[in-house]
Amino acid sequence: MSRKRGRLFVISGPSGTGKGTVCKELLKDIRNEFSVSMTTRAPREGEVHGREYYFVSRDEFLTNIEAGNFLEHATVFDNLYGTPKDMVISRLDRGYNVILDIDVQGGLQVKKAMPEAILIFILPPSLAELRKRLIGRGTEDAAKVEKRLGQALNEIRLIGEYDYYIVNEDIDEAVDLARSIIAAESARVPEAVRSIIREYEKESK
Ligand code: 5GP
Repeated sequence: MSRKRGRLFVISGPSGTGKGTVCKELLKDIRNEFSVSMTTRAPREGEVHGREYYFVSRDEFLTNIEAGNFLEHATVFDNLYGTPKDMVISRLDRGYNVILDIDVQGGLQVKKAMPEAILIFILPPSLAELRKRLIGRGTEDAAKVEKRLGQALNEIRLIGEYDYYIVNEDIDEAVDLARSIIAAESARVPEAVRSIIREYEKESK
């Protein structure tokens, strides 16, 4: 059982909840790999093409949609974002867990396309705390912070579709819980195995 397929983990949650930090910590484990998304958003200072994102033009993005290259794609804050399908599949096949840091619309598309994916939602302790963190980050002006808070509530309303939630009150505890979820899910007997056994049992009756 050493060469088993990896598991696909979707990590979502409103911006400012610390999901980026959680993902970064999870990637310190060599069994976990990050899926680099494609986006039409401009790079922020320090971001590198191919590391944080593949930064592409709108035309290039649309060509990729038409070619069916995305596992999911969505518009987030007026920009297009998508998960390249082939990279996810090949890493899972090679036995790595793949971590997607994507929004809730994308998470739900992934669940539809690959029901075995495990969806984890990161929550802020409160909306007031989220506002404080967004303001403290200093990357958005006041109007944008309010827009992101409205968006946060819309995302939280869909948490029922997710498998796990983590309230990020303390980042170390949040990371520990995420690691525990990955460990437990990696030890889960896959549903496919159960259904094979059921087939044999049916036949033997
Ligand atoms: P940012 O532009 O701040 O890096 O990301 C904005 C939002 O887009 C975040 O919630 C992030 O999780 C989400 N996002 C990043 N990549 C993807 C992707 O490939 N698909 C979807 N649906 N959302 C993404």
